Amino acid sequence: MKFHTAVLHAGKKELEKFGATLPPIYQSSAFEQENAENLAGIFENKAPGYCYTRVANPTVTAFEMRITKLENGMASVACASGMAAIANAFLNILQSGDEIVTSASLYGGTIDLFRDLEAFGIHTIFVENNNWSAFKQAINEHTKLIFAETIGNPGLDVTDIKSLAELAHSYAVPFIVDNTTATSYLVRPLELGADIVINSSSKYINGNSSAISGILTDSGHFKWSREKYPILGEYLKYGPMAYISRMRATVFRNFGACLSPQNAFLNLIGLETLGLRMERQCENALGLALWIQEHYPELSVNFPGLKSSPWHEIAGKQLKNGYGAIFTLRAGSREKAFVLINHLKIALKVSNIGDTKTLVIHPASTISLHSTQKQKEDAGVYDDLIRVSVGIEDLEDLTEDFRQAIESMKKE
Ligand SMILES: *Cc1c(COP(=O)(O)O)cnc(C)c1O
Repeated sequence: MKFHTAVLHAGKKELEKFGATLPPIYQSSAFEQENAENLAGIFENKAPGYCYTRVANPTVTAFEMRITKLENGMASVACASGMAAIANAFLNILQSGDEIVTSASLYGGTIDLFRDLEAFGIHTIFVENNNWSAFKQAINEHTKLIFAETIGNPGLDVTDIKSLAELAHSYAVPFIVDNTTATSYLVRPLELGADIVINSSSKYINGNSSAISGILTDSGHFKWSREKYPILGEYLKYGPMAYISRMRATVFRNFGACLSPQNAFLNLIGLETLGLRMERQCENALGLALWIQEHYPELSVNFPGLKSSPWHEIAGKQLKNGYGAIFTLRAGSREKAFVLINHLKIALKVSNIGDTKTLVIHPASTISLHSTQKQKEDAGVYDDLIRVSVGIEDLEDLTEDFRQAIESMKKE
């Protein structure tokens, strides 16, 4: 199935038993079995079926199967948030003493999580994205995973996924990539060699800010070595399913960050229009970024779709159908950034991306508030930076909104 078909039809058969055109919401905490033997079998992972929604739920499974198809992976685990998906993805293979090497250009919440992991003896080394010698220098025998975002949020650097995957594999470690800002509509990282892809489905996948959730998808291709990943232990016998099997049986189940069936349903509804929305949002973002760049070059618009972006070439090679729908601009000072934001009438002042509506935020005082000055600089978060997540409105209305807000800022 091609993309626009898959968002509607992939994996639906298993759940729509009565001919429903949408997956039912199985709003039930527990599932009865015919006898004690069946229930025991499910607990032992020897029989298919459902027992308790913290472990698995049919509506959540429908969402997982559809994302697995879209990302072209082997299996997915849906979680209560994007952060929960990232935490599960890491903690499934890490132990005290292990290290992570990551691109420094990251979502602020993820940088915060790396700091939290220090308390558990897990250390993270941040390096400049796409700087292969910096990555090589940071990797050592303690390194257990490499991490990056497809399009850094809000740095908007585009990771060369194929090259970074090859580099990770040359050290026998997996490459885990956060694809939230691009989505599988623009790129499927697993097809380029990444091993595990994570999406905060709170963003473009849900599409209208109706639910927080996250999901991780395993390619099943990474060869886990017993020596390097002793934590996988008995699960290694499941071969390509080792990673997901361990997660379902341990960290995912026991940390309890499961996705609610209602939110899985909202995601499945939103997902149906992911392709259409992305098409329109990417087009609008390019149009608006070009317009601002042309009329207000002093605002230093940063967008992978612009020739002025250092990431334009790799974006063109790697992303299909567009350059994403997020751009940033620099107002000149924090005060001016606030004035510009406050004058916008259509764009919502919101800490979110990927909504049908256009959203703006001042990252330095919000999503990157807890980062150190150095972390902010490395992530491309300047004090005068405004991030714009472009929606599906009419482009003329968006350009007019930004025109009047920029003009007002210049007068003040
Ligand atoms: C929002 C976001 C996250 C975190 O997702 P939540 O659903 O808010 O927990 C992670 N990575 C990126 C790139 C994001 O934009």
